[in-house]
Amino acid sequence: DTALYYAKDEGRNNCQLYKVSLSAKTPEILSLEKSLRCALERKEFIVYYQPRVNIITGEITGMEALLRWQNPEMGVVAPNVFIPLAEESGLIIPIGEWVIREVCTQNKAWQEAGMTPMTIAVNLSPKQFRQPNLLEKVAEILETTGLEPQFLELEITESTAIEDLDFTRSVLKDLEKMGVYLSIDDFGTGHSSLSRLQMLPLHTLKIDGSFIKQLRNDDKVGHIIKAIVTLGQSLGLRLTAEGVERAEEIDFLRSINCDYVQGYFYYRPLSPQQATEVLKSESQK
Ligand code: C2E
Ligand code: CA
Ligand code: CA
Ligand code: CA
Repeated sequence: DTALYYAKDEGRNNCQLYKVSLSAKTPEILSLEKSLRCALERKEFIVYYQPRVNIITGEITGMEALLRWQNPEMGVVAPNVFIPLAEESGLIIPIGEWVIREVCTQNKAWQEAGMTPMTIAVNLSPKQFRQPNLLEKVAEILETTGLEPQFLELEITESTAIEDLDFTRSVLKDLEKMGVYLSIDDFGTGHSSLSRLQMLPLHTLKIDGSFIKQLRNDDKVGHIIKAIVTLGQSLGLRLTAEGVERAEEIDFLRSINCDYVQGYFYYRPLSPQQATEVLKSESQK
């Protein structure tokens, strides 16, 4: 039960690696919070990019930024492991700010390299969405990186959105005024209804991947997906289906006029280098 964690050497203000036994529970065992803080300082976070594809033309119409923690000892750590801890400890605020800045910087660099301009979506955790200076931060990052606001999209989950609809609406309205795109993530899992989300200034609804997965063994779920697409579109929203892995799923989603798809069928999340290659060939089409 030995684990390696990063410890912050406060004295010299740099991060040092210690080998600690998990069972020892000594004060020297540093929390994962400190590991995450060190990871930020040591620049161990890396953003992957998953293209979003137009289901009719097959063109890439945007990408989603997905965070990875590349630790020399632990390898690549998935966000489902560390985002909840970052959220709990509050470290999601600096980490999340880093992600937005990194994505805007990368997007601007791609545009300056002559790639077809596209919007990149960044996930906002509940705590990030509720931080008091979110608007100022986003504005400052856009200003500093020189990225035009329509090339940044912010995703909040359905459950984050419905927790306090009045608050959500006021924040989203300010972000909309700024010119960034807004989308609801994991739609269908938050037990809300479209009529409640209708008051929000949204561009896109992302149908949760669990629905697409259920298509494989449950015929009825197709009707639910179709209803979400039809109703969403009647409210002026673009629909993205997530977690699309199979050709049959594409066929079905095309038959019900879903706008965009994201999933392993087309692209897995790509490293910045891989994403650059994909964008290069896409821009030459
Ligand atoms: P999400 O926003 O719902 O992202 C979609 C997840 O589905 C991603 O997992 C993606 O890699 C995965 N995925 C994409 N296509 C497919 C597919 O065809 N099949 C399957 N099975 N999975 C697919 P990932 O990258 O592990 O991220 C997990 C979650 O972590 C994200 O869910 C999001 O909630 C959170 N997350 C990721 N990056 C960030 C970030 O920068 N900030 C915050 N606050 N949360 C993030
Ligand atoms: Ca997302
Ligand atoms: Ca999602
Ligand atoms: Ca999710």
